[in-house]
Amino acid sequence: MSRWESLLAVQGHDTRADQLAHRLETLAVRSQLAGVADQVEAVDRKLAVVDERRGELSRSQVRLEDEIASLGERANQAEKQLYSGSVSNPRELQALQDDVASIRRRISQIEDDELEIMELAEPVDAERDSLAAERARLDADGQRLTGELAEAEAEIATELAAVRRERDAVAADVPDELWAEYDALRSQLGGVAVARLVGSTCQGCHLALSAVELDRIRKLGVDELVHCEECGRLLVRD
Ligand SMILES: [Zn+2]
Repeated sequence: MSRWESLLAVQGHDTRADQLAHRLETLAVRSQLAGVADQVEAVDRKLAVVDERRGELSRSQVRLEDEIASLGERANQAEKQLYSGSVSNPRELQALQDDVASIRRRISQIEDDELEIMELAEPVDAERDSLAAERARLDADGQRLTGELAEAEAEIATELAAVRRERDAVAADVPDELWAEYDALRSQLGGVAVARLVGSTCQGCHLALSAVELDRIRKLGVDELVHCEECGRLLVRD
């Protein structure tokens, strides 16, 4: 292979490596994963609101149950006294009976309040269940996509390593003095520094060179650097 053909081969491998790097950056699964992460965040925000609401209801319920328990205790003691025979004064007995009845009424009211809270909690629990199910579904999606991403990344990395090995092998045949020019042109011209001249057409920009330029090129020695007059790339002549 001539130095020019070797440089052209290096260009081919570099272009391939650039494409692989671009594919790696723009893998669709990566943006899908980001989408799932956004959805997880949104669900978690809703879950936090629902949990807070559920917590308030639970605390209210506990408060009412504590109140019922202590009122129940008071009613039991009043009843015990009532039936113990220790109180014989009819007025005192009546007062005790009224006290027990009033406590029992209060308990019954609080029990109604508690029922109301339990009813309020039902839709909140249902919403929490549905959010938790959505969260689990998103977690599963995230895991699947993470696996797919790792697989795609590994595949590209393997291919990239092979391309680099082939590039390095062929790069050994390129004279050192060509590299500075090659690297500079590559960074200026979208990664493509060298192109073949086919007939009168540069394969880098696909424009035809003038007859005068073609004539000039034809007279140059094979080792001379020739640039496309249109795009500035190094031309590989047959
Ligand atoms: Zn050109």
